[in-house]
Amino acid sequence: MTPPTRLPVTTSSLRLLSLGAGVQSTAVLLLACEGTIPRFDYALFADTGWEPRAVYANLDRLRTFAGSKGIPVRTITAGNIRTDALDPRHRFVSMPLHTLNPDGSRGLARRQCTNEYKITPLKKTARELLGYPHPHRVPRGVYAEQAIGISTDEFTRAKDSGLRFLRNVFPLIELGLDRTACLDYLAERGFADTVKSACVGCPFHGNAGWRWIRDNDPDGWTEAVEFDRAIRHGHPRATAQGQPLRGQYFLHRSCLPLDRVDLDAPAKRRRHLQLLAVDPAEEADPDGCSPWSCRSGASVDTEAAA
Ligand code: SF4
Repeated sequence: MTPPTRLPVTTSSLRLLSLGAGVQSTAVLLLACEGTIPRFDYALFADTGWEPRAVYANLDRLRTFAGSKGIPVRTITAGNIRTDALDPRHRFVSMPLHTLNPDGSRGLARRQCTNEYKITPLKKTARELLGYPHPHRVPRGVYAEQAIGISTDEFTRAKDSGLRFLRNVFPLIELGLDRTACLDYLAERGFADTVKSACVGCPFHGNAGWRWIRDNDPDGWTEAVEFDRAIRHGHPRATAQGQPLRGQYFLHRSCLPLDRVDLDAPAKRRRHLQLLAVDPAEEADPDGCSPWSCRSGASVDTEAAA
C-alpha cells in the first residue's frame, strides 16, 4: 500500500471549489479572491477535454488572477471525452445520447460521463489533498468543504455529495445571488464575457446552446458535427467487437443529424412543437451537467463514502 503523499489532514480545514469556469463558479472564485467569502485552498477544474474555447480562455485568466490572490487553480482530468468515445481501444463511457430505435421510438442512452470525467477526478483529488488517497480510508470527522456554484434560481440542484469526506456548500445561495446577479457582478469585475460551461458535444444542449457553439466556436461546431456522424451506429469499440447499435445515436434531441437541424427558427419551432404537443424544451438550454447535480434536472448518482 502506497503511503499518503502528504501529511494527512485531521481537521476539516480543507476548502475546495469545484470550478466549472462558467458563470456561477467564476463568480464564486472572484468572491473568494475579493474576500467576500473565505478563500479556497484549491479551485479544481475537472476537464473533459472538450469545453468551448471561450471556457478554456476564461480558465486561463482565472488561473492567473486567482493565483495572484493565493488561490491555485488546478486542472484535473480523466481523459478526453471526445477522443475516448471515438477510440475503439478505449473503454466505452456512455454519454446521454439521443437514441432512435428501429421501431421509431426514442430514448436516451445512460449517462456515465459526468461521473467518469468530473465527479470521480474531483473525489480522487479531494482524497489526495486530504492525505488519504485511495485505498486509504478517510477517518470519520475528516472532510473537505467543497463549494459548488449554484445560484438561487436553481436551488433545487443543490445536493449533498453523498460522501463523508466531501461536504458541499453553496456560497451563492447563502449570499442570495441568482444568475442575473452573478452576470452583473462578473460584468462589474471585467468578466462580462464569461460563458456557460459544458462539453461542446453535450447531448443536453438545447437549440440555443447549439446555435451558440455554431456561431461562436466554429472548430467546436465542426468537431460536434463530425462526432455526431461518427457515433450514429454506436460506439466504435462495440462496433469493432461485432455489437453494432440496433438503432441510431444522435447529439440533437430531434434525432436528426446535427448539421441538418434548423437551429435558426426558434419561434417557428416553438409554435410547431405546441401544435404537436411536443415538449418545447427543445429550444431551452439546460446547460449540460455540473457536479453534483445536472442542470437538466437529473441527479448524478454517487457512491457511498469509502
Ligand atoms: S457536459 Fe454533457 S457530455 Fe459533458 S460530461 Fe456533462 S453530461 Fe456528459
